[in-house]
Amino acid sequence: MLGCSGTFPGPESPCSGYLVEHDGYHLVLDLGNGALGQLQRHVDLLAVDAVQVSHLHADHCLDLVAYSYARRYHPGGRAPALPVHGPPGLAARVAGAYEAPPADGLDEVYDFHVVTPGQTYRLGPFEVTTAQVEHPVEAHAVRLRAGGRTLVYSGDTACSDALVELAGGCDLLLCEASWPSEPAPPPGIHLTGREAGDHAERAGAVRLVLTHLMPFTDPALVLAEARQSYTGPVEIARCGATYDV
Ligand SMILES: [Zn+2]
Ligand SMILES: [Zn+2]
Repeated sequence: MLGCSGTFPGPESPCSGYLVEHDGYHLVLDLGNGALGQLQRHVDLLAVDAVQVSHLHADHCLDLVAYSYARRYHPGGRAPALPVHGPPGLAARVAGAYEAPPADGLDEVYDFHVVTPGQTYRLGPFEVTTAQVEHPVEAHAVRLRAGGRTLVYSGDTACSDALVELAGGCDLLLCEASWPSEPAPPPGIHLTGREAGDHAERAGAVRLVLTHLMPFTDPALVLAEARQSYTGPVEIARCGATYDV
């Protein structure tokens, strides 16, 4: 867990970033503001093999700007172009936050790939499948399968049958639960604890980890809600924690 704070950084965690490792391959799921710092606690700065971005909100992709400097100006020489997969417009978004156009040399740092929801492709040992979920901008949930195990990450979403389908039978569902049910949150943006638990239950997920809680969300409330709607083991993500899938 490189960062699990929802929407903006909290005192205990940067924004969304998840380092997923299998057989020495390092895939980063989202790289929100601050997550790059935490990455360096776990692996060498250049030991990332690919990045998968769920959507273009700043709290999920903004550290791609900071990371471009690290790769470009590394004392060992410029690192090879890093595969970065994400929704349409990601390259332009990162370039826009990088420098006034024309962005200088970002294409030499990142090899951007546009992901079409529903697509399945390989990143190293991972079979990657995406699904479009419910959010004010195009947002993808991501299913990673390797070594006979499956991890599904919701990205940011409101209630989504596509997420339930993608997460079907997964070993670990890393699901956003941004806020509690009361007071009633605005519709169509995020999940409550109860809704996250409900999605995990319907999907038959073996285990549930709740993430993207906003700093003003009480974790105890969200956890209690999820325990009412999900019968499996559930916990709140902690920055720096590691999970074996
Ligand atoms: Zn977010
Ligand atoms: Zn978002």
